[in-house]
Amino acid sequence: MGDEFRALVLEETEGKVAASVRMLDQARLPEGDVTVDVAWSGLNYKDGMVLKGIGRLVRTYPHVPGIDFAGAVSASDSPDYAPGDKVVLTGWRVGEAHWGGYAERARVKSDWLVPLPDGLDEKDAMTLGTAGFTAMLAVMALAEHGVAPDSGPVLVTGGGGGVGGVATALLAAHGYEVHASTGRAELADYLTGLGAAEIVPRAELAELPKRPLAAERWAGAIDAVGGNTLAALLPQIKYGGAVAACGLAGGAELSTTVLPFLLRGVNLLGIDSVMCPAARRRTAWAALADKMPRAALNALAATATLEDLPGLADKILKGGVRGRVIVDPSR
Ligand code: NDP
Repeated sequence: MGDEFRALVLEETEGKVAASVRMLDQARLPEGDVTVDVAWSGLNYKDGMVLKGIGRLVRTYPHVPGIDFAGAVSASDSPDYAPGDKVVLTGWRVGEAHWGGYAERARVKSDWLVPLPDGLDEKDAMTLGTAGFTAMLAVMALAEHGVAPDSGPVLVTGGGGGVGGVATALLAAHGYEVHASTGRAELADYLTGLGAAEIVPRAELAELPKRPLAAERWAGAIDAVGGNTLAALLPQIKYGGAVAACGLAGGAELSTTVLPFLLRGVNLLGIDSVMCPAARRRTAWAALADKMPRAALNALAATATLEDLPGLADKILKGGVRGRVIVDPSR
């Protein structure tokens, strides 16, 4: 690669966002003290929103999306990184307020980077990506709040998606009995392969609960869906249990009562991957390298090209992507 690199560029015309793959000159890269040759990027729910211009996440066009990437440092003004160092980046509003990973090259602040831990290569890191990092933060939060493998089964919602798939595999690898919820019955074998002991049809959690408390079913939950699903699972959490709220694929609003919190001591734990402090990021990535089963990484990943991404944006926003889609921007 010379001074020019391949990138997916978004332009806005009369409120409509359009994407095209182009060659860009290195001089156009945004400010930052580290330049990275991107090996892999990933497709996340938020990337779908950015690619479609939903939610005003991007304010300045032209824009290069891609909220996560992994690659090798090609130039550095930071004492913390040298050319050749392997790094992973998620969050910090990269791919929204700053150009992101849907390009062969990215320039970012060194503070945003995490050195790739031993045991993960760039492809592994993006098979996990923001979704996997978020799932690990959720697993850590449940454990820190006393949900242990012997506490009882743990529910994962949005099991067919990225966060749900990695959460299922990670919880199983930590010894939890995982109940994975999905709206796609055809994914049962895939989810069982990732480590789910039971499949919960999405419809069981789709309606607002009739009563504030129901039979105690799960010691904890990792919820990627929000909305009615989160409202429906809270009354079914066991005494002293915890729910890690990560996502809103089913809605941002939450209609509940305080009774699960007051009468059962249930904890509702917020999970944010975007502004997560650097030290916790490194802890989570080290834990991912340690715990994520190789077979699950292989089962989760599907590859795509930069050209495929606009079409895949519609698919992920409709809940139609399975596991993780990763992109090598050079192809
Ligand atoms: P995916 O699209 O890969 O997964 C979401 C899954 O949710 C779908 O596969 C589907 O699973 C299920 N789903 C989709 N629509 C609905 C619906 N209307 N009702 C019920 N279930 C639905 O997205 P990601 O895994 O990348 O992200 C999941 C969520 O987590 C998103 O809302 C995302 O914004 C959020 N997120 C938050 C982060 C944070 O920092 N807090 C970081 C990363 C993601 P199935 O078909 O199996 O039911």
